[in-house]
Amino acid sequence: MKQLVVVTKNKKKLSEIKEILKGMHLKLLSLDAYKNVPPVAENGKTFQENAIKKAVKFARFTGQFCLGEDSGLSVNALDGAPGIYSARFSGRSKSDIKNNLKLLRLLKDVPLAERKAHYVCAVALADRHGLIGVVEGDCSGLIAFEPKGSAGFGYDPLFYISKYKKTFAQLGEKIKHRMSHRYYALKKAKRIIQKYIVKQVGN
Ligand code: IMP
Repeated sequence: MKQLVVVTKNKKKLSEIKEILKGMHLKLLSLDAYKNVPPVAENGKTFQENAIKKAVKFARFTGQFCLGEDSGLSVNALDGAPGIYSARFSGRSKSDIKNNLKLLRLLKDVPLAERKAHYVCAVALADRHGLIGVVEGDCSGLIAFEPKGSAGFGYDPLFYISKYKKTFAQLGEKIKHRMSHRYYALKKAKRIIQKYIVKQVGN
């Protein structure tokens, strides 16, 4: 079975990626399988740049087929912030609760119709020879006035889907995995992975 190393230490993200890639007959490993993992500076200007950095750097480090993922939230009323800084929006501590509180504070007087936002997810694939491909997916919603629900992670308690009148954290994984930014990016990535595996078998 072909191995794919998912370049993340975020357990929630990893479990979402595993769930969405389920059925691909891939053995998914995370960075936890490796010792002395070098740090990767997420200093790209776009989600794609950061995803590529992660995939290429770790494909070189592990010698394996690697998937780099970078994602975040972009809020219209904040000119696209927090964007690539989503994880550290409230500072270096990377606290989901503090990030959500900061977002609510900045949108304090903004009415619902102007609280449009979207999640973005970039996925890059690389092997020891270099980058194989990069894709992106997104998902639109509104920022709620208070956090609700306990599923998911990050900004999910505030990410409100009008169609269901619930936040991602209330809707839970089953629905999130059918419409999320990560789902759409990985749907495209699956095609690249399949082609890569076929090519490897042929060689
Ligand atoms: P990364 O690990 O640098 O890609 O940071 C991603 C950050 O974006 C997370 O820490 C969350 O704050 C936010 N984020 C990305 N995807 C999601 C999601 O599916 N739900 C909630 N927050 C997300």
